[in-house]
Amino acid sequence: MRENTALLHQRFQGDPSTGGTLTPIAQTSAFRCQSAEELEAVCAGKKPGYAYSRIGNPTINSFEVRMAALEGGVAAVACSSGMAAVSMALLNILEAGDEIIAGAGLFGGTLDLFHDLEPFGITTRTVEHLSPEEIEPLLSERTKVIFGELIGNPKLDVIDIPAVSALAHERNIPLFIDSTTATPILAHPLKLGADVVIHSTSKYINGSGSGISGVIIDGGTFSWDFDRYQVLAPFRRAGKLAFTLRLREDLWRNFGACAAPSNLFLNSLGLETLGLRMERLCANALGLARFLEAHPGVGEVRYPGLESSPFFLLVQQELNGMGGAIVTARLGSKARAYQVMNHLKYAQIATNIGDVRTLVIHPASTIYLHSSESQRRSAGVYDDLIRISVGIEDLEDLKEDFAQALAQADSRA
Ligand SMILES: *Cc1c(COP(=O)(O)O)cnc(C)c1O
Repeated sequence: MRENTALLHQRFQGDPSTGGTLTPIAQTSAFRCQSAEELEAVCAGKKPGYAYSRIGNPTINSFEVRMAALEGGVAAVACSSGMAAVSMALLNILEAGDEIIAGAGLFGGTLDLFHDLEPFGITTRTVEHLSPEEIEPLLSERTKVIFGELIGNPKLDVIDIPAVSALAHERNIPLFIDSTTATPILAHPLKLGADVVIHSTSKYINGSGSGISGVIIDGGTFSWDFDRYQVLAPFRRAGKLAFTLRLREDLWRNFGACAAPSNLFLNSLGLETLGLRMERLCANALGLARFLEAHPGVGEVRYPGLESSPFFLLVQQELNGMGGAIVTARLGSKARAYQVMNHLKYAQIATNIGDVRTLVIHPASTIYLHSSESQRRSAGVYDDLIRISVGIEDLEDLKEDFAQALAQADSRA
């Protein structure tokens, strides 16, 4: 099966009980059993079935198996949000005294989470760009995970996964990749060498901004050393699947990080058009980035698919030649950035990405409100920078919209 066929047919079931062509929403908290013995067997995992939707639900499960297959993983666990997925994936293997090595160009919420983990004795060391050269000097006995975003949001730097995973595996450390901005259409991080993949499915996979959720996908290939990853030791019976087993039977279940069945129904619909949307979104983003780069009123424009980008070659090798759908531009000052944003007709001012509509935000005053000045700089966030999450509108309309907003901002300045 090729990509777009797989989005529709791989592990897709519909509703076997009625012939419904979509998997229905199991909008229920609990599942009745025929006998006390049956419920005991379901709870013990000895009989397939569902007991309680925090632990398992058919709508959620159908999305999980499709995502696992799409990414080439062995199992997937859906979560209430992308942040829940990042938190659960990390906490599932870490304990007090452990260190994370992460790229600095991360989503603001993830940077805030690293700060939240400090009182629990988990510390993070960041590098400007997640590359073997920058990681190597920071590695120690305490390093338990390397974490990065395949295409950093909003820094838009691209990780060379084969290179980083080679170093990580040499030291027996897993590589966790947040692939939200790349999506399975641009790359399959597990196939490139990552061990665990995370998506905020609120974004491109949902595709229309209709609900919050996330997912963790286990590659099932990392050999966990149960002396080093002691929190996984009680699940050693699952071998390479110990990571997923601990999430399911322990951490994720007990944190109550489950997703809502109705949101995952919407994600399943979104998934089916992901290939079409990403093609259009990436083409629009490239077109808009080229337009902005050539505009005399715009400073630095970042887009990994631009030939001027230091990541252009990596985009060709690793991301199917597609640079994603986020563009950032520097406009000289915060005041001018605000004026341009306020004059846009189609681009909506909103804190989200991956919608069918074009969205625009001033990251420094919103997503990075809680970050320090040096954290902002390392994340590629400046006072005059706007982030554009490009939508599926007609490219000519988007260009005209930015042209008129830039012209109006300048006539008022
Ligand atoms: C949005 C986002 C998250 C967080 O996802 P939520 O669904 O908003 O919790 C994590 N990582 C990246 C790269 C994101 O863009």
